[in-house]
Amino acid sequence: MRKIQMVDLQSQYNFIKDQVNNSINEVLESAAFINGPEVQKFQKELENYLDVKHVIPCANGTDALQIAMMGLGLKPGDEVITADFTFAATAEVIALLNLTPVLVDVEPDTFNIDPEAIKKAITPKTKAIVPVHLFGQCANMDAIMEIAEEHNLYVIEDNAQGIGADYTFKNGSKKKSGNIGDVAATSFFPSKNLGCYGDGGAIFTNDDDLAHTIRGIVNHGMYERYHHDVVGVNSRLDSLQAVILRAKLPLLDQYNTERRKAAIKYTEALKDHQHIITPVLAGNETLTEDNSHHVFHQYTLRITNGKRDELVQFLNENGIPCGVYYPIPLHRQKAYVDERYDEADFPVTEQLVKEVISLPMHTELDDEQIGFITDKIKAFIS
Ligand SMILES: *Cc1c(COP(=O)(O)O)cnc(C)c1O
Repeated sequence: MRKIQMVDLQSQYNFIKDQVNNSINEVLESAAFINGPEVQKFQKELENYLDVKHVIPCANGTDALQIAMMGLGLKPGDEVITADFTFAATAEVIALLNLTPVLVDVEPDTFNIDPEAIKKAITPKTKAIVPVHLFGQCANMDAIMEIAEEHNLYVIEDNAQGIGADYTFKNGSKKKSGNIGDVAATSFFPSKNLGCYGDGGAIFTNDDDLAHTIRGIVNHGMYERYHHDVVGVNSRLDSLQAVILRAKLPLLDQYNTERRKAAIKYTEALKDHQHIITPVLAGNETLTEDNSHHVFHQYTLRITNGKRDELVQFLNENGIPCGVYYPIPLHRQKAYVDERYDEADFPVTEQLVKEVISLPMHTELDDEQIGFITDKIKAFIS
């Protein structure tokens, strides 16, 4: 059996090696390292893939979130509602801009932000909601867009884990994640579903004015050379990363299908177990290879007999890497504690942080590895 890895970037690279190496060499020869034609080509290709009007590449996913919020003109003191159960970057940029992060609980089945909790957290100062499409499954965008419309709030999708997922609305229509709210941010960190070989990110929007504003912000607030109209940042995707992303984008749907295949096998082996809850798809969707509802950035189980930490140790001892995303709720992180929070407001997150475990998930997992992993889990959680 091949060694089991949490993510397997080498095998994926071997498959596209010639193309990537050739393109990298071309960039080296051309010396167009920053904002070269490759970045523009990637931008257009991603716009087509997502069916979104504007993609603005930038340096990483955290910048993308920050720049999206700057572009919307959010002001210090504005409240921005986001999930308590997410990676810290989401709340970090809110705080960094002197906006007020308002963390709310998530749903126990999808792990995504709970629309009822959003409603309860809205005050006259609320300006935006940041749903995170956690682990590759879209948040309940029907409900979130309805709340946003009723209260006149912006919706900024954190799509760092959801790229390629399709959201099916109540009326049956579909849209790619990141093409639903006012603006979205994504990350091309190597281990993301569409990852480059360094840092990278992008902002998406269908709003022409917002796209124009953001294009200036990423470039020191310049709309005309050496005229700085707003305070901006320096956040660019470089040409070397763009050629890697151009090689991988045509494979993204296939990558996501491979992830779903692995998820189906995990679920087949682990469902119906009294102490294990396998991932639940929102809206009664069924898990099939081509149902693009969930792109499984992570395959995350809930272990309900209180033995999650022992299981992590047992798997590690057996050469199986795994992860706990996330072990501490954001509202209890030192940087984000706030007297407004009441422990009783986060019952679901508090339970999830004790129960979740993410299994190895990537495009190169084979049956033997999945069988080995699931047998070990069943042997331990009897
Ligand atoms: C990875 C990630 C980010 C940040 O992306 P970087 O490119 O690492 O800055 C933001 N939000 C979520 C949910 C992520 O998973």
